[in-house]
Amino acid sequence: MEIFQNISELRKEISGGKFTLGLVPTMGYLHDGHISLIRRSKGQNIKTAVSIFVNPTQFNRAEDLDNYPSDLSSDITILEREGVDYLFTPDLFHIYPEHFETEINVGSVSLPLEGASRPGHFNGVATVVCKLLNIFRPDTVYFGQKDAQQCSVVQTMVKDLNIDVRVVVCPTIRDSDGVALSSRNINLSKCERESAILINKGLFQALAEWEKGQKKASILKNIVRQKISSSPLNHLEYVSLARQNDFIEQNCAERESIISVAVMVGSTRLIDNVVLK
Ligand code: AMP
Repeated sequence: MEIFQNISELRKEISGGKFTLGLVPTMGYLHDGHISLIRRSKGQNIKTAVSIFVNPTQFNRAEDLDNYPSDLSSDITILEREGVDYLFTPDLFHIYPEHFETEINVGSVSLPLEGASRPGHFNGVATVVCKLLNIFRPDTVYFGQKDAQQCSVVQTMVKDLNIDVRVVVCPTIRDSDGVALSSRNINLSKCERESAILINKGLFQALAEWEKGQKKASILKNIVRQKISSSPLNHLEYVSLARQNDFIEQNCAERESIISVAVMVGSTRLIDNVVLK
Protein backbone atom coordinates (compact mmCIF):
# COMPACT_ATOMS: atom_id res chain seq x y z
CA MET A 1 0.00 0.00 0.00
CA GLU A 2 1.28 3.45 -0.89
CA ILE A 3 0.71 6.15 1.71
CA PHE A 4 0.39 9.81 0.73
CA GLN A 5 0.04 13.05 2.63
CA ASN A 6 1.00 15.31 -0.20
CA ILE A 7 -1.77 15.95 -2.73
CA SER A 8 0.42 16.51 -5.80
CA GLU A 9 2.37 13.30 -5.18
CA LEU A 10 -0.88 11.39 -4.82
CA ARG A 11 -2.24 12.91 -8.02
CA LYS A 12 0.94 12.09 -9.92
CA GLU A 13 0.54 8.46 -8.90
CA ILE A 14 -3.14 8.05 -9.79
CA SER A 15 -3.77 10.49 -12.63
CA GLY A 16 -3.94 8.99 -16.07
CA GLY A 17 -3.99 5.51 -14.57
CA LYS A 18 -5.78 3.03 -16.76
CA PHE A 19 -7.72 1.48 -13.92
CA THR A 20 -11.03 1.95 -12.17
CA LEU A 21 -10.63 3.59 -8.79
CA GLY A 22 -12.88 3.26 -5.74
CA LEU A 23 -12.57 5.74 -2.87
CA VAL A 24 -13.59 5.12 0.74
CA PRO A 25 -13.47 8.35 2.78
CA THR A 26 -13.12 7.78 6.54
CA MET A 27 -12.07 9.47 9.75
CA GLY A 28 -10.04 6.42 10.79
CA TYR A 29 -10.17 4.16 13.86
CA LEU A 30 -11.32 1.55 11.40
CA HIS A 31 -13.86 -1.15 12.19
CA ASP A 32 -15.85 -3.75 10.26
CA GLY A 33 -18.23 -1.07 8.98
CA HIS A 34 -15.37 0.67 7.18
CA ILE A 35 -14.00 -2.69 6.06
CA SER A 36 -17.32 -3.58 4.43
CA LEU A 37 -17.02 -0.44 2.28
CA ILE A 38 -13.42 -1.29 1.40
CA ARG A 39 -14.37 -4.84 0.39
CA ARG A 40 -17.21 -3.54 -1.76
CA SER A 41 -14.78 -1.19 -3.49
CA LYS A 42 -12.22 -3.96 -3.96
CA GLY A 43 -14.92 -6.10 -5.57
CA GLN A 44 -15.91 -3.35 -8.00
CA ASN A 45 -12.61 -1.61 -8.90
CA ILE A 46 -9.09 -2.41 -9.98
CA LYS A 47 -7.67 -0.05 -7.33
CA THR A 48 -9.04 1.07 -3.97
CA ALA A 49 -8.07 4.20 -2.08
CA VAL A 50 -8.93 5.04 1.53
CA SER A 51 -8.65 8.48 3.09
CA ILE A 52 -8.24 9.00 6.81
CA PHE A 53 -8.87 12.58 7.85
CA VAL A 54 -10.63 13.76 10.99
CA ASN A 55 -12.27 16.78 9.43
CA PRO A 56 -12.53 19.54 12.04
CA THR A 57 -15.04 21.59 10.05
CA GLN A 58 -17.72 18.94 10.49
CA PHE A 59 -17.43 18.94 14.29
CA ASN A 60 -19.42 21.62 16.05
CA ARG A 61 -18.30 20.65 19.57
CA ALA A 62 -14.59 20.98 20.34
CA GLU A 63 -14.96 18.24 22.96
CA ASP A 64 -16.30 15.80 20.37
CA LEU A 65 -13.34 16.50 18.08
CA ASP A 66 -10.84 16.19 20.96
CA ASN A 67 -12.35 12.85 22.03
CA TYR A 68 -12.44 11.38 18.53
CA PRO A 69 -10.38 8.18 18.72
CA SER A 70 -7.45 7.49 16.44
CA ASP A 71 -4.91 4.69 15.94
CA LEU A 72 -3.15 5.14 12.63
CA SER A 73 -0.75 2.21 12.99
CA SER A 74 -3.60 -0.23 13.64
CA ASP A 75 -5.53 1.31 10.72
CA ILE A 76 -2.52 0.80 8.43
CA THR A 77 -2.27 -2.85 9.49
CA ILE A 78 -5.95 -3.35 8.66
CA LEU A 79 -5.64 -1.59 5.29
CA GLU A 80 -2.54 -3.61 4.34
CA ARG A 81 -4.38 -6.79 5.29
CA GLU A 82 -7.36 -5.79 3.17
CA GLY A 83 -5.13 -5.13 0.17
CA VAL A 84 -5.91 -1.42 -0.14
CA ASP A 85 -3.76 0.26 -2.81
CA TYR A 86 -3.58 3.88 -1.64
CA LEU A 87 -3.95 5.53 1.75
CA PHE A 88 -4.30 9.31 1.98
CA THR A 89 -3.65 10.71 5.46
CA PRO A 90 -3.36 14.45 5.01
CA ASP A 91 -2.52 16.89 7.76
CA LEU A 92 -4.86 19.75 8.43
CA PHE A 93 -2.87 22.21 6.30
CA HIS A 94 -2.93 19.90 3.29
CA ILE A 95 -6.71 20.09 3.23
CA TYR A 96 -7.21 23.58 4.64
CA PRO A 97 -4.16 25.66 3.70
CA GLU A 98 -3.91 29.25 4.80
CA HIS A 99 -6.56 31.51 3.22
CA PHE A 100 -8.89 28.59 2.50
CA GLU A 101 -12.33 30.19 2.15
CA THR A 102 -14.71 28.04 0.12
CA GLU A 103 -17.61 26.18 1.71
CA ILE A 104 -20.27 24.02 0.08
CA ASN A 105 -23.81 24.36 1.35
CA VAL A 106 -26.01 21.63 -0.06
CA GLY A 107 -29.34 23.21 0.94
CA SER A 108 -32.53 21.78 2.37
CA VAL A 109 -31.47 18.12 2.78
CA SER A 110 -28.67 19.31 5.07
CA LEU A 111 -30.91 21.36 7.36
CA PRO A 112 -32.98 18.97 9.53
CA LEU A 113 -31.82 16.30 12.02
CA GLU A 114 -28.01 16.14 12.00
CA GLY A 115 -27.93 19.55 10.32
CA ALA A 116 -30.13 21.09 13.03
CA SER A 117 -28.37 19.33 15.92
CA ARG A 118 -24.90 20.07 14.58
CA PRO A 119 -24.97 23.46 12.83
CA GLY A 120 -22.43 23.62 10.01
CA HIS A 121 -21.83 19.86 10.10
CA PHE A 122 -22.95 19.10 6.57
CA ASN A 123 -21.19 22.13 5.09
CA GLY A 124 -18.02 20.64 6.54
CA VAL A 125 -18.86 17.17 5.21
CA ALA A 126 -19.83 18.38 1.73
CA THR A 127 -16.74 20.58 1.41
CA VAL A 128 -14.28 17.87 2.42
CA VAL A 129 -16.00 15.19 0.32
CA CYS A 130 -15.96 17.51 -2.70
CA LYS A 131 -12.25 18.13 -2.16
CA LEU A 132 -11.55 14.39 -1.87
CA LEU A 133 -13.53 13.72 -5.06
CA ASN A 134 -11.52 16.41 -6.87
CA ILE A 135 -8.23 15.09 -5.52
CA PHE A 136 -8.87 11.43 -6.39
CA ARG A 137 -11.38 11.68 -9.27
CA PRO A 138 -12.56 8.15 -8.38
CA ASP A 139 -15.01 6.21 -10.52
CA THR A 140 -17.00 5.26 -7.42
CA VAL A 141 -17.14 6.54 -3.86
CA TYR A 142 -18.45 4.43 -0.99
CA PHE A 143 -20.50 5.55 2.03
CA GLY A 144 -22.33 3.75 4.82
CA GLN A 145 -26.09 3.70 5.35
CA LYS A 146 -25.48 4.34 9.06
CA ASP A 147 -24.88 7.98 8.12
CA ALA A 148 -27.98 8.08 5.93
CA GLN A 149 -28.45 11.84 5.83
CA GLN A 150 -24.79 12.23 4.91
CA CYS A 151 -25.41 9.89 1.96
CA SER A 152 -28.32 12.03 0.79
CA VAL A 153 -26.29 15.23 1.19
CA VAL A 154 -23.44 13.75 -0.88
CA GLN A 155 -25.82 12.37 -3.53
CA THR A 156 -27.49 15.79 -3.83
CA MET A 157 -24.13 17.56 -4.11
CA VAL A 158 -22.86 15.12 -6.76
CA LYS A 159 -26.04 15.58 -8.80
CA ASP A 160 -26.24 19.37 -8.42
CA LEU A 161 -22.56 19.99 -9.18
CA ASN A 162 -22.35 17.38 -11.98
CA ILE A 163 -19.51 15.59 -10.25
CA ASP A 164 -18.58 12.59 -12.37
CA VAL A 165 -18.69 9.83 -9.74
CA ARG A 166 -20.97 6.96 -8.79
CA VAL A 167 -22.09 7.03 -5.15
CA VAL A 168 -22.57 3.59 -3.59
CA VAL A 169 -24.31 3.26 -0.21
CA CYS A 170 -23.42 0.12 1.77
CA PRO A 171 -25.56 -1.44 4.52
CA THR A 172 -25.00 -0.72 8.21
CA ILE A 173 -22.78 -3.28 9.91
CA ARG A 174 -23.81 -4.13 13.49
CA ASP A 175 -22.17 -5.85 16.42
CA SER A 176 -23.62 -9.15 17.64
CA ASP A 177 -25.78 -7.18 20.14
CA GLY A 178 -27.22 -5.10 17.29
CA VAL A 179 -25.34 -1.89 18.10
CA ALA A 180 -24.25 -0.18 14.87
CA LEU A 181 -20.46 -0.19 14.65
CA SER A 182 -19.01 3.26 15.20
CA SER A 183 -15.56 4.55 16.06
CA ARG A 184 -17.26 6.39 18.92
CA ASN A 185 -18.42 3.13 20.61
CA ILE A 186 -14.97 2.85 22.21
CA ASN A 187 -15.92 5.77 24.47
CA LEU A 188 -18.92 3.90 25.98
CA SER A 189 -18.64 2.46 29.49
CA LYS A 190 -20.05 -1.04 30.09
CA CYS A 191 -23.37 0.38 31.37
CA GLU A 192 -23.57 2.86 28.50
CA ARG A 193 -22.98 0.06 26.03
CA GLU A 194 -25.99 -1.82 27.51
CA SER A 195 -28.06 1.35 27.11
CA ALA A 196 -26.89 1.78 23.53
CA ILE A 197 -28.46 -1.60 22.67
CA LEU A 198 -31.87 0.00 23.23
CA ILE A 199 -31.27 2.23 20.20
CA ASN A 200 -31.36 -0.58 17.67
CA LYS A 201 -34.00 -2.44 19.70
CA GLY A 202 -36.30 0.59 19.42
CA LEU A 203 -35.67 0.99 15.72
CA PHE A 204 -36.23 -2.68 14.91
CA GLN A 205 -39.35 -2.81 17.11
CA ALA A 206 -40.78 0.06 15.07
CA LEU A 207 -39.81 -1.75 11.86
CA ALA A 208 -41.63 -4.87 13.08
CA GLU A 209 -44.78 -2.81 13.85
CA TRP A 210 -44.60 -1.23 10.41
CA GLU A 211 -44.31 -4.70 8.86
CA LYS A 212 -47.48 -5.66 10.80
CA GLY A 213 -49.28 -2.73 9.17
CA GLN A 214 -48.74 0.29 11.44
CA LYS A 215 -48.28 3.33 9.18
CA LYS A 216 -48.71 6.23 11.60
CA ALA A 217 -45.41 8.03 12.02
CA SER A 218 -46.36 9.35 15.47
CA ILE A 219 -46.96 5.81 16.77
CA LEU A 220 -43.82 4.36 15.19
CA LYS A 221 -41.69 7.22 16.54
CA ASN A 222 -43.24 6.75 19.97
CA ILE A 223 -42.18 3.10 20.02
CA VAL A 224 -38.60 4.17 19.34
CA ARG A 225 -38.77 7.03 21.86
CA GLN A 226 -40.09 4.83 24.66
CA LYS A 227 -37.59 2.07 24.14
CA ILE A 228 -34.58 4.39 24.01
CA SER A 229 -35.78 6.50 26.93
CA SER A 230 -36.25 3.44 29.13
CA SER A 231 -32.61 3.87 30.20
CA PRO A 232 -31.70 6.98 32.20
CA LEU A 233 -28.29 6.96 30.50
CA ASN A 234 -29.89 7.67 27.11
CA HIS A 235 -30.90 11.16 26.11
CA LEU A 236 -32.81 11.11 22.83
CA GLU A 237 -31.96 14.16 20.72
CA TYR A 238 -34.40 13.39 17.94
CA VAL A 239 -36.42 10.64 16.37
CA SER A 240 -37.53 11.23 12.79
CA LEU A 241 -39.57 9.41 10.20
CA ALA A 242 -38.76 10.92 6.83
CA ARG A 243 -38.37 10.37 3.13
CA GLN A 244 -34.88 9.06 2.55
CA ASN A 245 -33.81 11.19 -0.41
CA ASP A 246 -34.68 14.61 1.03
CA PHE A 247 -35.32 13.93 4.75
CA ILE A 248 -38.72 15.63 4.70
CA GLU A 249 -40.74 14.44 7.70
CA GLN A 250 -43.75 12.25 6.96
CA ASN A 251 -46.97 11.68 8.91
CA CYS A 252 -47.53 8.37 7.21
CA ALA A 253 -44.77 5.81 6.75
CA GLU A 254 -44.18 4.53 3.23
CA ARG A 255 -41.93 1.85 1.80
CA GLU A 256 -38.36 3.27 1.86
CA SER A 257 -39.18 5.80 4.60
CA ILE A 258 -36.39 6.01 7.13
CA ILE A 259 -36.57 6.23 10.90
CA SER A 260 -33.47 7.99 12.26
CA VAL A 261 -32.33 8.79 15.76
CA ALA A 262 -29.55 10.65 17.51
CA VAL A 263 -28.92 9.71 21.12
CA MET A 264 -26.52 10.97 23.73
CA VAL A 265 -25.46 7.88 25.65
CA GLY A 266 -23.67 9.42 28.58
CA SER A 267 -21.35 11.86 26.83
CA THR A 268 -21.13 9.87 23.57
CA ARG A 269 -23.35 10.87 20.69
CA LEU A 270 -24.62 7.98 18.55
CA ILE A 271 -26.78 7.95 15.45
CA ASP A 272 -28.60 5.05 13.86
CA ASN A 273 -31.48 4.41 11.48
CA VAL A 274 -33.63 1.77 9.90
CA VAL A 275 -35.23 1.81 6.46
CA LEU A 276 -38.81 0.54 6.21
CA LYS A 277 -38.66 -2.16 3.57
P1 AMP B 1 -16.45 7.64 9.59
O1 AMP B 1 -15.04 7.17 9.74
O2 AMP B 1 -17.27 7.45 10.82
O3 AMP B 1 -16.56 9.02 9.00
O4 AMP B 1 -17.10 6.67 8.52
C1 AMP B 1 -16.55 6.50 7.25
C2 AMP B 1 -17.55 5.79 6.38
O5 AMP B 1 -17.86 4.53 6.97
C3 AMP B 1 -18.87 6.56 6.26
O6 AMP B 1 -19.36 6.43 4.94
C4 AMP B 1 -19.77 5.85 7.23
O7 AMP B 1 -21.14 5.93 6.91
C5 AMP B 1 -19.27 4.41 7.10
N1 AMP B 1 -19.62 3.65 8.30
C6 AMP B 1 -19.40 3.99 9.59
N2 AMP B 1 -19.94 3.07 10.41
C7 AMP B 1 -20.51 2.13 9.62
C8 AMP B 1 -21.23 0.92 9.88
N3 AMP B 1 -21.47 0.48 11.11
N4 AMP B 1 -21.68 0.20 8.83
C9 AMP B 1 -21.45 0.63 7.55
N5 AMP B 1 -20.78 1.76 7.24
C10 AMP B 1 -20.31 2.50 8.27
